[in-house]
Amino acid sequence: MPTKKVAVKKSTPAKTPLKKVVAKKITPATKVAKATKADEGLPLSTLIRRRIKAQNARFHANDNIAAFIKPGELEGLMDEVAEKMQAVLESLVIDTESDHNTKNTSRRVAKMYVQEVFNGRYVEQPALTKFPNVSRLNELMIIGPITVRSACSHHLCPIMGRIWIGVLPSKNSALIGLSKYSRLTEWVMCRPQIQEEAVVELADMLEKKIKPVGVAVVMDADHFCMQWRGVKDRDSKMINSVMRGAFLKDSNLRREFLALIERK
Ligand SMILES: [Zn+2]
Repeated sequence: MPTKKVAVKKSTPAKTPLKKVVAKKITPATKVAKATKADEGLPLSTLIRRRIKAQNARFHANDNIAAFIKPGELEGLMDEVAEKMQAVLESLVIDTESDHNTKNTSRRVAKMYVQEVFNGRYVEQPALTKFPNVSRLNELMIIGPITVRSACSHHLCPIMGRIWIGVLPSKNSALIGLSKYSRLTEWVMCRPQIQEEAVVELADMLEKKIKPVGVAVVMDADHFCMQWRGVKDRDSKMINSVMRGAFLKDSNLRREFLALIERK
């Protein structure tokens, strides 16, 4: 699918001498088109999908696919999303040429998806500085509330909420800095998600990284697909909790954690 932009650029200097047309070919718009359609004129998303399939890897909405994206390709992917987003606006019969509000909407949405709200799919896991538990801490540690901004994978509607993480470290646990819990949470949540799966994924990751005696994750969130659309129930929330290890076996520890987070 050749971009409209390119077609316009090429037709504009038609009356000018040939030399000028050649010079015009090296405009940023032409470069963008080349970056989007790399090998064999295929869209970049097709190439990335091929690499993923060659490794038999999964690429669901909440999977991270950073390992299959080469440096510099995210820009091209954004161009491709913008082009297809423009087609969606056209199909919605929105006059993006005369309506100044929607003129650059396709590009803004593409940028928002790739660089912001779904960025956790495309970038590598944030680096975690781990340090040994030298003081041999074995007391309950609670981090939160961590702000969660996500979107449901069914409608791509926002999910806004909070997360609390409880960790019971062992003498052999590797500890991570407090800010890293937020970074890791953001990385998991900045993908189209299902809350039930998101909390499990976060708990799995923390167990693997920290190797604690127990880990607990509680998330409560507003789902805009219940408020903006569907039943239009403004007050409904979803609360999920995952309890692992000591939090599962020791009801006192679980109670202590839940009492301390005091969600409101
Ligand atoms: Zn939804």
